[in-house]
Amino acid sequence: MKIGFLGLGIMGRPMASRLVSAGHEVAVWNRTARQHVDGATTAVSPADAAKEAEVVWSCVADTNAVERVIFGDDGALQSMREGAIVVDSSTISPSATVRFAERVNERGVHWVDAPVTGSKIGAENGHLVFIVGGAPEPVQYLEPLFKAMGKQVIHIGGNGKGQAAKLGMNLMLALIYEGFAEAFVLARKLGVEPHKLIELIQASMVRSGAIDYKAPFVLRHDYTPNFPLRLMHKDIHLMLDMAKENRVKLPALETVDEIYELSSEEGWDDLDYAATLGLLEKWAGLSGAPK
Ligand code: NAP
Repeated sequence: MKIGFLGLGIMGRPMASRLVSAGHEVAVWNRTARQHVDGATTAVSPADAAKEAEVVWSCVADTNAVERVIFGDDGALQSMREGAIVVDSSTISPSATVRFAERVNERGVHWVDAPVTGSKIGAENGHLVFIVGGAPEPVQYLEPLFKAMGKQVIHIGGNGKGQAAKLGMNLMLALIYEGFAEAFVLARKLGVEPHKLIELIQASMVRSGAIDYKAPFVLRHDYTPNFPLRLMHKDIHLMLDMAKENRVKLPALETVDEIYELSSEEGWDDLDYAATLGLLEKWAGLSGAPK
C-alpha cells in the first residue's frame, strides 16, 4: 500500500520503519528536521506525504498537533483523494476526534482512531495493541498494516471510541504506577532491598504488565523516556477534561495530577513518567532522584 506517515517520534519512527519492512511504499514527514527512515521517501510537508497515499497515518504529540498535520495549510487533507483513510495513533481528545472525523468525511475521506499501547519496546518489536474507533470497512482494509506493527487490534466502536478506551486504560496505568511508586518508596525506607520487593510483586497477585516493563528501568534509576512524563501528563489532563465534561469524579487521578505538576516543576517533563517516583524518594529523604 502507499502510505504517508506523519510524526517520527519515539513511537512513529519504529512504526514507519516496520511498515517499510513489510513491503509498503512509505513517505515520511516530521515537523522539525527532515528525518530519514531507511527505505522510505522523505516528504517536505504532510500534504506532500499524503499525495497519492491510500492511507495517511499520524503519530504526533497531541490534539493540536493532529489538527495541524491533517487540517493545516499544508496538511494531509489538502492532497488526499476520496476513499483514502486517515489513521491516527496519537492519544488525543475523543470529542475532537469525532469532530475531525466529521470534517474529513465531508471530503469523502475515512477516519480511524487507532491509539496504541505497548510503548517504545512494543513499537520496535511490532507488538503494539491498536485500540480502534471507526467504521468496519476501513478498519478491515487496514488489517495488513495493523499486522505489520502490532500483535492485536481491539475494535471498540465508532470514531472517538478508540480514544475513549485508550484514556480509560492509561488512567489505570497512571494509577498503577503511582501505587507501585508509593509501595517502592515506603518499602525502601523500611529497609527492603528494591529487587526483593520486585521479586515479591512479580510472584504475587499484584503483578502488573506495567510494572514488569518499568521495574528494570526503576532499579537502574534509568529515566530515559520510553513514554515521556509530559505525554502522560497530557493524557491525565485529557482524562480530567473528559471527566468534567461528563460529570465523572476522579479523586485518585486528581492527586496523581498534582504529582505530575510537581514533577514538571522539577524540570522532568522529558524524562520517562517513571521519574515521578523520584519525587516520593526526595520527600522521603532517599537517594536516587532524577537529575
Ligand atoms: P514524541 O517522541 O514526543 O514524538 C512526538 C511527535 O509529534 C514528534 O514527531 C513531534 O515532532 C510531533 N509533534 C509535536 N507537536 C507537533 C505539532 N504541533 N505539529 C506537528 N508535529 C508535532 O512522542 P511519542 O512517544 O512518539 O508519542 C506520540 C503519540 O503517541 C502521543 O500522543 C503519545 O501520547 C502516544 N503514545 C506514546 C506512547 C509511548 O510509550 N511513547 C505509548 C502510547 C501512545 P518534532 O520531532 O518536530 O518535535
